[in-house]
Amino acid sequence: MSQYEALSLYIDGEFLSGDGRATQDVVNPATGEVLAQLPHASEADLDRALKAADRAFQTWKHSSPMDRSAILRKAAELARERAQDIGLNLTRDQGKPLAEAVGEIISCADHCDWHAEECRRIYGRIVPPRNPAVRQLVVREPIGVCAAFTPWNFPFNQAIRKISAAIGAGCTIILKGPEDAPSAVMAIARIFHDAGLPKGILNIVWGDPPKVSDYLIRSPIVRKVSFTGSVPVGKQLAALAGAHMKRITMELGGHSPVLVFDDADIPKAAKMLAKFKIRNAGQVCISPTRFYVQEKAYDQFLSVFVETLKGVKVGDGTAKDTEMGPLAHERRVGAISSFVEDARKGGATIELGGDPLGGQGYFFPPTVVTNISDESRLMTEEPFGPIAPVVRFSDTDEVIKRANSLPFGLSSYVFTTSLQTATKASNEIEAGMVNINHFGVALPETPFGGVKDSGIGSEGGTETFDGYLVTKFITQV
Ligand code: NAD
Repeated sequence: MSQYEALSLYIDGEFLSGDGRATQDVVNPATGEVLAQLPHASEADLDRALKAADRAFQTWKHSSPMDRSAILRKAAELARERAQDIGLNLTRDQGKPLAEAVGEIISCADHCDWHAEECRRIYGRIVPPRNPAVRQLVVREPIGVCAAFTPWNFPFNQAIRKISAAIGAGCTIILKGPEDAPSAVMAIARIFHDAGLPKGILNIVWGDPPKVSDYLIRSPIVRKVSFTGSVPVGKQLAALAGAHMKRITMELGGHSPVLVFDDADIPKAAKMLAKFKIRNAGQVCISPTRFYVQEKAYDQFLSVFVETLKGVKVGDGTAKDTEMGPLAHERRVGAISSFVEDARKGGATIELGGDPLGGQGYFFPPTVVTNISDESRLMTEEPFGPIAPVVRFSDTDEVIKRANSLPFGLSSYVFTTSLQTATKASNEIEAGMVNINHFGVALPETPFGGVKDSGIGSEGGTETFDGYLVTKFITQV
């Protein structure tokens, strides 16, 4: 087996570790084994990263989109070449099954390619003047130094989306990756280093998340803040960015409603949703979360859903037959257990699972809860784990109202064979993304983002550079 990734900071083109820096353990969630020590950035390191990113921006902002595109293409190629090794380390420190981990790296190569293509099409426009002697130009310029903060559930994906967008737009970036699962972000630093990205454009730091984000966001050098993570943390960072008038992209939590109508192919929907629910052990911001099933279909849906989840092989993500790995760290086991405890207290029925698996590692089985009220914690707070409440509904207006009743608005899922119902649901559900009869979001060519508390701005699609560019108007006579 290959070695676990060597962990360091990456600042101004140098990989830095040791030198008396504080460190923290990186733990394998399937075994509890300590894999490595992760160095934290000191204030001097953060200052160095800020200076490097600022200096590099003065040149990079004038770079040719062709050159930026070539580096992103090279990064895509290296990601594909290294996908097996990076994927194995991602499974070791994050827990997801190896096939999911390798799939994450390969799909991210497509994200790099997409940004490589789109960055050559960052156009301005000419506005017809009132006086023919005047020329009026609208140009889009890179915003400047970006500070980005990414979580542990898709460590490669969430970081590479922000990095590709910043680099493609002509910005520079300081990214704090997830300390719980750092290998994938470290691998991104090596990829861009080897792809020939000039020093200072990409900088990777680690540390105490609130301290690092506070320091970077307050710095006058930083012009843009991008965060993926929970709603409460996103609101704190957005408030701080607002106080310093900085542009934000916020990719926050969700509580995705699933609407299964009587006329859908019920066994197919139940099987598809069960498999999608356990992806990354349910630790996905767009995970299907609240299952509303129409009355006539309810019993059949529940039976197939529970049977499918019962058959899921839970285990170490490096084992060949594993379909669902452990939760990413110990605190997530406590968090999911507390949702179950609250549901039990409220008189809900636990149809499947409900208790941690015990033994070594942070394993929690697929769990299905019924007879639960819409006001319970599980139906209103983001569980972020392999737990699914299933409830009944009677008509379309009622279920859309219930789907829209929470402050979240990220993804949503509708299963129906009625064109009328599909159209009504897609028009009326308050969400950044609506999936009808399949799962089709998070592709590089389509925008990904939420409304309401789930965030501000989109990543991917032709919108991907919007958060990284400023508009300048030039008038000339
Ligand atoms: P958490 O809220 O403590 O941390 C979530 C992420 O935010 C972590 O990566 C953490 O390092 C980072 N973070 C926390 N405080 C920060 C700060 N002040 N500045 C910068 N980064 C900060 O919770 P957790 O136990 O790690 O994760 C569970 C919750 O996080 C879930 O309930 C879910 O809502 C949310 N989450 C969302 C996503 C997503 O894709 N939107 C990803 C991971 C976690």
